[in-house]
Amino acid sequence: MLIVMHRDATDAEIRKVMDHIESLGYRAHPIPGSLRTAIGITGNQGSLHRAEFEVMPGVDQAVPVTKPYKLVSREARDERTCVDVAGVPIGAGTFTVIAGPCAVESRKQLFEIAEQVKKAGAHLLRGGAFKPRTSPYSFQGLGEEGLKLLAEARKEFDLPVVTEAMDSEGVKLVEEYADVIQIGARNMQNYSLLKAAGRARKPVFLKRGMSATLDELLMAAEYIYSEGNYQVFLCERGVRTFSMHTRNTLDLSVVPAVQEHSHLPILVDTSHGTGRRDKVPALSLAALAVGADGLMVEVHHEPEKALSDGPQALTPEMFRKLMADLKSMAPLLGRTIES
Ligand code: PEP
Ligand code: MN
Repeated sequence: MLIVMHRDATDAEIRKVMDHIESLGYRAHPIPGSLRTAIGITGNQGSLHRAEFEVMPGVDQAVPVTKPYKLVSREARDERTCVDVAGVPIGAGTFTVIAGPCAVESRKQLFEIAEQVKKAGAHLLRGGAFKPRTSPYSFQGLGEEGLKLLAEARKEFDLPVVTEAMDSEGVKLVEEYADVIQIGARNMQNYSLLKAAGRARKPVFLKRGMSATLDELLMAAEYIYSEGNYQVFLCERGVRTFSMHTRNTLDLSVVPAVQEHSHLPILVDTSHGTGRRDKVPALSLAALAVGADGLMVEVHHEPEKALSDGPQALTPEMFRKLMADLKSMAPLLGRTIES
């Protein structure tokens, strides 16, 4: 159920409705919009009585939500949400670029790449400290040491940092050192991890599982919302298909589908989506064209020596060219890319 407040409802009236919901033993989720506030109710098992809410001052109407995902649906908020990452907007017509190495390997490596992506115009720095690798014998990341290096790079280059948490312990650490908690494709349906991210106070970047449907992706986001963290943005990073010419099949059609059904921003990761650096630039331009809210790309100054995902990392030079191309294309589409 969604309680839609009048346009001129006061804060006190909103608070009263929330108190009433909580007194019934449910959870109230305020969802502010530019015209009015809606309050989502979760935790109820059966249906609720609309009239009970509709008689309260400031309430316009109580409407049942038909989608299984409630708080992240367009029914809850019929406009696009903008997530603020340490002053960098994700959504709201801007195109935000997250760039950096697959994994933090050393201070020298991270700082070299951070300097280059910053110069080229990246808005956020990425780098894995905890790496979900297919083989237990592959490089697993530097752990907390990697997080410390990311925090240093953030300061040095004035770039908010995005990094993955693989378990609840990791959420606490990432929350402490980084600006965004990334949930990786392999963990999209790790519900205890999603709940932990939902209790965190930092924005969450949720990647689509490699065989997840749109509904499954939005339900995963709903887990984070239902715990009270409303700073969530999504990522298409390619799905498994029979096609073998790229590492994954980048499903760009999910971008308008997400935007039709949800108010959350959605970015596209063209590095994991293709697995090949020669395919990354064109698909990144396609991500802008299809209306994505931004891009994640891997960049490495020595990709042939990278400890993970070298073949899909752009060189700094390729990244500079991509940023220039994105910036010349954006105005044609009515989009802005902050410099
Ligand atoms: C990553 O972004 O570093 C990563 C591991 O991606 P994914 O979870 O999409 O495979
Ligand atoms: Mn990677």
